Parts: sequence; C-alpha cells; structure tokens
Amino acid sequence: MKPRLTDVRREILKVIESAENPLNVKIIEQRLLSHPNLSTIYRALDFLEAEKFIRSVSFSGVKFYFTSKRGNGHFLVCKECHEILEFRECVVKNLQKKIQEKYDYKITDHILYFQGLCLECQQYINKKKRIRS
Ligand SMILES: [Zn+2]
Ligand SMILES: [Zn+2]
Repeated sequence: MKPRLTDVRREILKVIESAENPLNVKIIEQRLLSHPNLSTIYRALDFLEAEKFIRSVSFSGVKFYFTSKRGNGHFLVCKECHEILEFRECVVKNLQKKIQEKYDYKITDHILYFQGLCLECQQYINKKKRIRS
C-alpha cells in the first residue's frame, strides 16, 4: 500500500525534488507557500524519510534533505560557508564494484562527499592573505 501523502507532505516533497541541491529545514520552510509551522515540517520530513521518499545527510550538525529518486548522493561541502552542492556524475562506480566483490557485499547505494572550499571562500581567503602581506 502506498503511504498517504497529506498536502503538506506532498508540498515538501515537491520542494525537495525540484531543488538542485540538498536543502536544510530553514530553506525548505522558506519555499513552502502554505507556511506550515516548523514542527509540522519536521514531522513531515521524518515521515518522508521513513517512507524513503527522501534521504538526508548531516554536515556540521545541520541536516540536509535530498530526493531518493537519484539513488545515490554526491556532494561538495564547503568547510567555510557550509554551502553544499550536489553533483550527478558517479565517480565511484568501479570502486563500488570492486568493494562489492572483495567483501561479498550487495551494495544498493552510496553517499559520497568531498569537503573543501567553494570558489567564493577561496577568493575571500586569498584576498585576506594579500591584505595581510
Ligand atoms: Zn564556501
Ligand atoms: Zn555514485
């Protein structure tokens, strides 16, 4: 039986599915036209995640939600501004196959992230360095 989606749940799912990048609760709240309160949003997110419509990752204690439609998740996370970008190219297909064979494991999906500095933060840090020297 397909789980029932209330209007709020459906709206939240739509916001997450149409987003380019994973969203945290604050952004999701801003994009909801029906303006439900935060606890309703949290409950809906828990429901959607439990029913596997969405998945989440946590970076620096902040949870980000993304659609499970794409199966896997690949992210770039900026250590300075905590911006998070999702990229679609799977760079670990061969690695996954190797690990699967080596450990006799049936791998169903993966979440991968690279941490670093986004372009803006790189430029900001370079500018600060130049001023100091
Ligand atoms: Zn940054
Ligand atoms: Zn992948």
